[in-house]
Parts: sequence; structure tokens; C-alpha cells
Amino acid sequence: MGRNMAVKRVNAFVLKVDPVRENSQLVNIFSFEYGRLKTLLKAGRQSAARRARSIEQLSEYEILIYFRETSELHLISQFSIIKDFHRIREMRYGLFHSIAIIEHILKLMPLNEPSEKIYNLLKKSLIAIEGGCDARVVYLLFRLYLLKHLGLLPQTEVCTSCSRKLSQDAYYVPYKGGLVCAECFNGEENGSIFMKSSMALVKLLRSLSSLSLNGGFEARIGDELLRDANRLLDFHISYHLDVQLKSTEFLRF
Ligand SMILES: [Zn+2]
Repeated sequence: MGRNMAVKRVNAFVLKVDPVRENSQLVNIFSFEYGRLKTLLKAGRQSAARRARSIEQLSEYEILIYFRETSELHLISQFSIIKDFHRIREMRYGLFHSIAIIEHILKLMPLNEPSEKIYNLLKKSLIAIEGGCDARVVYLLFRLYLLKHLGLLPQTEVCTSCSRKLSQDAYYVPYKGGLVCAECFNGEENGSIFMKSSMALVKLLRSLSSLSLNGGFEARIGDELLRDANRLLDFHISYHLDVQLKSTEFLRF
């Protein structure tokens, strides 16, 4: 170990594992103590048996890391499992939504910024899915809470053009950052995308956005409302965060 390294123990979720040369793996993690980190797991002289117990996406581990001062890529020295969410891996629907949740952390949380709230939110969300809550509801709530944490919730209280309180069907217009009332909406403005939003959807987003950053995972929401709410957030995230999420494509339901 060189002088420029510090060894630290962290609790972390594995967000993504990519094989790199010489049987090593690039492992993106979200740690409780330091936020999102890029790490390298070297194959070294591990036995075949040890390699078989390799580090897995979605699971939570205790990891011993050599932090390098001169690089963004830190080194994994040892790891041991805390929770493997093995029941989620047997749920087709639950697994897709869990992977989608993980992808949001990977693409929306900045490097090296710890957040106890978001770490706990991630853990609670996965536990809720594993425990049999509707994965679509958990996914929707997770995204709203994450957007709230990032200060990027869509505006659902008032019309973003005339500031009047919304009281009937409205239109979600991404470049306005929220909803526009029927009177202010003048068709496909500048050819931009928009989405007609029922008052039921507006009310749902409003009430969910006002919840504190945990719980509510047992809520029951109708299929159509759920689909529309998640679709609106897909628009919102891809427009405002300039991020394309692979998971939103395979979750068209
Ligand atoms: Zn208006």
C-alpha cells in the first residue's frame, strides 16, 4: 500500500459491474459514507471458488476500500455481503423495477456526495419490493423522492404560465418545468413534446410530492394513473437532467 492511500470500510450498494481487462471488474457503488464511487475489483490470485462468489449488482455489501488520492478509481480490497435481495431476483417485475431504481442512482447522484437520506430511501425501496409491495408504486415514489432531494420536482400546484391554481385537466410541458392550464396551452408549442394530464394525475403527483422522504410504499394506485405518472416523470427526467435511462424503455407497461 502506497503512502497516498487510505483504507476505509464502507456499506454500499453495487450499482453496476463491468468486466475490464485481466478478469478485473469496474464496480460502481453507492456508499453510505461517501456517496457514489467508482472502484476496481482486481482478480488477483483469487481461487476459482472465491471468484464464483463475485460481487453482484443490487446487493448491499460491507467493503474495504483503498482510497487513492490521485485517482477517481479506488480499489476494493475485501467485501462481504450484508443483504443480497435474492427474493427480488426471482420476481420478474420486481427485478426490472429494482434495476431501474439502481440506474437512477447511477445516473442522477453525483460522485463523492454522500446522502444518508437517499441511501436509506434506496434500501427501504428494495425491501418494500422484496416484501411484496407493488413495484410500480415503489418505483414512482422512489423517483419523486429522488427528484425532491435534487430540487427537481415538476411544478404541479399552479400553471407555469399564468400562476393560477390548477383546477382542471392540464398539460405537462417539459420545457416549462411543469404543468400549463388549458387556457394557456396553445397546442404543440415550438413542436415540443407535451402530455395531457388529468386532474386525477395532477392531484396524485401533488399528494405524493408532499410526502416526506420515506414510506407510502403500500399505497394502491390504479393502473392507468400509475402508467401516466411514471410516463410524465420519464419526460421530466429525460428533459431536465439530459439523461437517457435504459430502464424507462424496458418498463413500458
Ligand atoms: Zn395558465
